Amino acid sequence: MSAPTCLFCRIVTEAIPATVIARSPHSLAFRDIDPQAPTHVLVIPRRHVPNVGELADSPAELADLFELAAQVAAEEGLDRGYRMVTNTGSEGGQLVYHAHVHVLGGRSMQWPPG
Ligand code: 5GP
Ligand code: ZN
Repeated sequence: MSAPTCLFCRIVTEAIPATVIARSPHSLAFRDIDPQAPTHVLVIPRRHVPNVGELADSPAELADLFELAAQVAAEEGLDRGYRMVTNTGSEGGQLVYHAHVHVLGGRSMQWPPG
């Protein structure tokens, strides 16, 4: 799947709106529509790749993605820590098959809870 059918490709091309908070040469960061923490940002490669593992053959894009994720965490003031999550496949809880990293923070992200 790729543009125009992929949801996140459509966010990259601005065919559908999103609250974009940061951009880099290869990546885009925008707020999750259903936040699970005070800060919940999705960081995605601009290029359609189904999951982060498949981005590993492109070190420049992979590094750009994590650099932007760390930049977003700093800009969101997550100096006490944050969690990065990347779900892969149905049993991994992946709903959108365009690679993305969740950046979650602003509350205790201790795992397992307790
Ligand atoms: P996954 O389960 O694939 O790792 O995460 C997909 C994420 O995309 C979910 O956290 C979900 O809330 C978010 N999401 C789904 N549709 C939209 C949308 O249209 N806009 C935004 N900003 N986030 C979305
Ligand atoms: Zn896509």
